[in-house]
Amino acid sequence: MNINPRSNNFVEKSGSDSIGLYVHVPFCDGKCPYCDFFSLRGDEARMEEYTSCIISRIISESERIGRPADTLYFGGGTPSLLGGKRIARIVEAARREFGLKNAEITVEANPGGDLSGFFREIAAAGVNRVSLGLQSANQNELRLLGRRHTAEDAARAAEDAHAAGIGNVSLDLMLAVQGQTEESLARSVDFCAACGACHVSAYLLKLEPHTAYWQRRAALRLPGEDEAAGLYLAACRMLAEKGYRQYEISNFARPGFESRHNLKYWRCEEYLGVGPAAHSFLGGKRFHWKPSLRGFLAGEGPEQDGAGGDFDEFAMLRLRLAEGLTDAACLARFGYPVPERVRRAAKRYESAGLAAPVPGGFRFTPRGFLVSNTLTAEVLFPQQSNAARRAAFDCH
Ligand code: SF4
Repeated sequence: MNINPRSNNFVEKSGSDSIGLYVHVPFCDGKCPYCDFFSLRGDEARMEEYTSCIISRIISESERIGRPADTLYFGGGTPSLLGGKRIARIVEAARREFGLKNAEITVEANPGGDLSGFFREIAAAGVNRVSLGLQSANQNELRLLGRRHTAEDAARAAEDAHAAGIGNVSLDLMLAVQGQTEESLARSVDFCAACGACHVSAYLLKLEPHTAYWQRRAALRLPGEDEAAGLYLAACRMLAEKGYRQYEISNFARPGFESRHNLKYWRCEEYLGVGPAAHSFLGGKRFHWKPSLRGFLAGEGPEQDGAGGDFDEFAMLRLRLAEGLTDAACLARFGYPVPERVRRAAKRYESAGLAAPVPGGFRFTPRGFLVSNTLTAEVLFPQQSNAARRAAFDCH
């Protein structure tokens, strides 16, 4: 049903029709050598212009879409660079246009400097979740990652967020960093628990083209594939021991603190992204804004990526999750259970410890997550040749 956001019924609308809202903030105070995200240096004038442009887009997209949102996520880049007042203005506009009833509102921030005032301002605006880019609690690893903060900065940031009333703090960790060992990883995991983090995202470092790391890849001594796999499995084990349940390939949470916004992506639910390089999935279509600040500020519209949300895409995304692919999820979405061919194909991987049954379906195990691209392709397209299978997978 199409809802006029300005009608009185708008805030009464149930969560089931609600989309996720993502705002990309493309500013960083430097470029980390491994990062290929779209980000630029920002000055006050640019950030002011950007904030106004985001608010205009939020208004025009709300008029076009006419749906409420129940999550808002500021990602980047480094959204904290925008400052508390600008974030508050954007939250206010999003609340006016998209309702944000009982919404999870997340802001990513990088540790460093005094963030206490920032957290107070965003908490007052209704932000109730903060995601901090810790990456490691070991200074030598932070230095090799080119990070500009210390572990103490991160501990202070978590403390300041808590003091401002934002209890839901997530920390990012990087796995397979040069020189990382199980001991140093254990220190980072202990650090997350000691900071009172409710959620941890732990990503395997990947060499991306067009990054400074890529250019000096011959000189880097990153862990090999087996070592990286060992560190990933160790992280899963250590985080579980600290009470963080793995709910997605790279995401772990204390019960009830799973990211509602990110779950929308993996459950193939609808979301609107605003800002250069932001992606959207709405009305069965995927589209994205080009990674161009100039284009975005000049009013260029998003580019269409075509149809999305068919069974294969749905299954691929669901198989990133510990809840797996189930009859209940398939019935609710497509009106049929997990196809027998898919169920049969997955069964073959159970004895190898790569897949496991869940009520009414199956999931991949942490070892399965390590090879999930290949496994997903094998399970969904077992009849196809390797080349065709890879091509089908790459389409998504
Ligand atoms: S702060 Fe984050 S987004 Fe910015 S360059 Fe570093 S990793 Fe990339």
